[in-house]
Amino acid sequence: MEETATRILTALATPIATDAKPLHAMTSIGITTTLEATDGDELLRQADLALYVAKGAGKNQWRRYQRHLHDEMVERLELRSALDHAVNEGRFLLHYQPIVDLTNGHAVGFEALVRWAHPNRGVITPDQFIEVAEESGLIVPMGRWVLEEALRTVSEWRRILPPGRAPYVSVNVSVRQFREAGFVDQVRNALQHTGVPPESLMLEITETLLMKDDEQRIWADLGVLREMGMRIAIDDFGTGYSSLGYLRQHPIDIVKIDKTFIDDMVTSPQLVGGIVSLARSLQLVVVAEGIEDMAHRDLLVQMGCPLGQGFLFSTPLGPTEVLAWMSSAAVAI
Ligand code: C2E
Ligand code: MG
Ligand code: MG
Repeated sequence: MEETATRILTALATPIATDAKPLHAMTSIGITTTLEATDGDELLRQADLALYVAKGAGKNQWRRYQRHLHDEMVERLELRSALDHAVNEGRFLLHYQPIVDLTNGHAVGFEALVRWAHPNRGVITPDQFIEVAEESGLIVPMGRWVLEEALRTVSEWRRILPPGRAPYVSVNVSVRQFREAGFVDQVRNALQHTGVPPESLMLEITETLLMKDDEQRIWADLGVLREMGMRIAIDDFGTGYSSLGYLRQHPIDIVKIDKTFIDDMVTSPQLVGGIVSLARSLQLVVVAEGIEDMAHRDLLVQMGCPLGQGFLFSTPLGPTEVLAWMSSAAVAI
């Protein structure tokens, strides 16, 4: 049966010639058998579920029904519905991880990282819900809250700390937020009513999400935001297309090197070294992500990487812990 499915997929993958452009069809196949189902309805439901999973996995593939698919689907639907409530009830909070000057350990900024105060699972991290938030579009209202809350926090830092000493905040933005009309206005308004200057805000966009050809409008919006004075960072650099050309062409100030490269740095330092010197030649600032080890910090300093983040300096902190951490950080390194 699987071989037949593969043959069908191959046959349908051939572009269909038309007068205009050739058409590319995407096929997804769900498979089940009467051994697994007790009646016709059940059989169709199972095939449908397997089809849904095949589509979700990126199309052009087949999936065979398995019991656990059903459980996973139910779990996902439950998660989505709970997330929906969380958005309406404001059940999120932000933690802040310092972005430090690698030479002295002082924080120059803090990355805002969302957490969900789940009614029965406690405070949970984005790896458990960001994907569902993206898929369902709930990332849009959630992201709006994240931006507002992060700016409220910076305005508080600015009120408490001496002039010029307040760190900036870095906010992760999903491409889906950019696709909504009016994102630029939303940011402008949020800055205005919190009284935070654009220079105190950095926006992080994940590299893999920005690689599609149809993203010209997003780059244009990023250009407008940058003109206003915000910094733009490419997050998880190295995990996507990572082309020299796009770093040069687009409005980018900062490149955040993904943790996986930092982890491998002692055995293969060339890659990180290459990214650091490339970024410097383009006048981009580099932030190394996920530094856990002093040896990594030392190597990064030698390479001329100015900034870093990681558990070596601090895990993400609750809003009330940030100022206390700032006054003790210089001693730690
Ligand atoms: P990211 O933006 O690359 O954030 C860095 C992640 O690495 C954070 O995980 C942080 O806690 C973790 N991390 C930092 N230093 C270390 C380290 O030394 N070791 C290890 N093992 N991990 C470290 P977190 O908070 O779970 O966030 C995961 C991802 O979720 C983020 O990756 C970001 O892509 C996304 N995310 C977080 N908050 C938001 C948000 O408000 N909006 C959007 N759209 N995405 C968000
Ligand atoms: Mg980030
Ligand atoms: Mg990252």
